[in-house]
Amino acid sequence: MRSLKFKLSRYNLQVIYTSFIRPILEYVDTVWDNIPIYLKDKLESIQIEAARIVTGATKLCSKSKLYNDNGWVSLSERRSRHKIIKFHEMFHDQAPNYLCSLVLQQLYQDYNYNTRRAFNVQNMNCRTTFYQNSFLPSVIREWNSLPQDVRCNPSKITLKNYINRDIKKVPTFYNTGCRKGQILHARLRLNCSGLNEHLFQKNIVLFRLCICGQVESSKRYLLECHYYRLIRTQTISTLPRCNIQTLLSGSELISDEENENIFEVVQSFILKTGRIGS
Ligand SMILES: [Zn+2]
Repeated sequence: MRSLKFKLSRYNLQVIYTSFIRPILEYVDTVWDNIPIYLKDKLESIQIEAARIVTGATKLCSKSKLYNDNGWVSLSERRSRHKIIKFHEMFHDQAPNYLCSLVLQQLYQDYNYNTRRAFNVQNMNCRTTFYQNSFLPSVIREWNSLPQDVRCNPSKITLKNYINRDIKKVPTFYNTGCRKGQILHARLRLNCSGLNEHLFQKNIVLFRLCICGQVESSKRYLLECHYYRLIRTQTISTLPRCNIQTLLSGSELISDEENENIFEVVQSFILKTGRIGS
């Protein structure tokens, strides 16, 4: 992926990661989620690096911003969700018998007396932390914390919609423009560009000011700094009035085509000024 970073589009890089690399990192992950933390971190670092390559962000970008921009969640969170999906299959008799019978053994006995606990599964007694974190004991705890209507619904789609409700769909217009433009635009959006304010926040430069004397923020650079006035009149000023948020991340209030146009114009401004790369 590193060697293709500047050759392929953001979309294609994302497809390479999710189709060829992530499945290897997650092979039968429901059974080995109790591995030591240092190994979990090693796996996570592979996904973080892939997220950096897809967005073009630098090492200065935080993990949460990277994942949010890609519409991803951590591998550890994904393992947890895979375990719940597997347990849902076992609970609703959609898995092989030898798995479903494990649930039957743990089913809460007196749910007739307490409707609030219906569909609860009895927690398992564990003597060691290693066992406590293994598949069955850990997934039962998670299962019991789900809303009852999700647990009692045999539809896997309902379950997936519930557990993945925090995953944001990445706007298609994030794939607009040439690769270089996409990368520099994303760096502005993710606060990890070469602008002095972004470098100052990470203690790389001593001053956050632009040569014009004002704080060199994304807003200052794109909308205000008089050093780029001429290029701005040919690019950003031709757009209908946009706030900084729309210039960086688009807006849900306008169509994808309008957002695409805004992204193309902003990227053209970034490339022509050459301030954060050309
Ligand atoms: Zn300036």
